[in-house]
Amino acid sequence: MPRKPLIAANWKMYKTPVQAQEFFKLFLPLVANHDRDEIVVCPSFTSISVVIAAATGSGVAIGAQNMHFADEGAYTGETSPLMLKAIGATHVILGHSERRQYFAETDELINKKLKTALHHQFIPIVCVGEVLAEREAGKTEEVLLRQTRGCLAGLTAGISAAEASPIVIAYEPVWAIGTGKTATPQMACEAHALIRAEVARLLGNEVADNLRILYGGSVKPDNATTLMNEPDIDGALVGGASLDPQSFAKIVNY
Ligand code: PEP
Repeated sequence: MPRKPLIAANWKMYKTPVQAQEFFKLFLPLVANHDRDEIVVCPSFTSISVVIAAATGSGVAIGAQNMHFADEGAYTGETSPLMLKAIGATHVILGHSERRQYFAETDELINKKLKTALHHQFIPIVCVGEVLAEREAGKTEEVLLRQTRGCLAGLTAGISAAEASPIVIAYEPVWAIGTGKTATPQMACEAHALIRAEVARLLGNEVADNLRILYGGSVKPDNATTLMNEPDIDGALVGGASLDPQSFAKIVNY
C-alpha cells in the first residue's frame, strides 16, 4: 500500500489561543476536502483544546509538541498522555532538536516517550537529525544510526507491523531548522534511505516499508514540491512556514 504523506505543523512557542483560532478560520477553507495528505497541526499546549474544537469535522488532526512518558505523577510542569488523550490530541512530536538542545532530551528519554505514545495509540513523530558540526565532520550517518537505534530501542523484540505502524520519523538536519537552509533532495533521500534500512534491520521489512519518514528543515511553499516529489520523502514537518495559514496551505497543496 502506498504511504499516505503526512504534513505536520510545529508551531513551537507561538500563538495564543485566539491567534490559533484565527489561523484555523483562514486555513480550513484553503484545505477543504484535501485527502491526499494527512494534515496535522501541533500548537502549544494551551491552544490544543481550542484548536481541536476549531478543526472538528475538517479532517485536520491535532497533536502536541511534547509529552511526558508517565501517565501521571509528581512531574511539575509536564503534560501526560492521558491529559492529551482526554482532550482529543492524536499525534505527538517527540525528541524535536529544540527539546534535545535546550531541555537535554536524550534518545533514552525519547524512547520511553515513544513506548508510552504507542501504548496510548498516539501517532508519534520522532525527530532525528545531525547538527552542522556533525555533518561537516562526516558524522551524519553515525548520528542518524545512533538516534534511530536509541529512539527505537526495545521495540525490536517481537513488535508487530501493526503495533509499529503509527511510528513516524522526521529527519530534521538541525542546521536547516529555522535557518532558511534546506537539505538538498539528495541529502534528504540519503538520510531517509539510511533510516529506512536501519528500521528494516531493527523491526523488519514490513515495518520499514510502511514507515513514513518526513523531512523537516526550512520547508517553504517554494521548495515543498521538489522535496515532496522524492519517493522516499513521505511528508514534511514544518516550523516557521506553518505559522501563516496561506503559506502552510500552499505547502499542504504542493
Ligand atoms: C521544525 O520546527 O521542526 C522546523 C523544521 O522548523 P523550520 O521549518 O522553521 O525550519
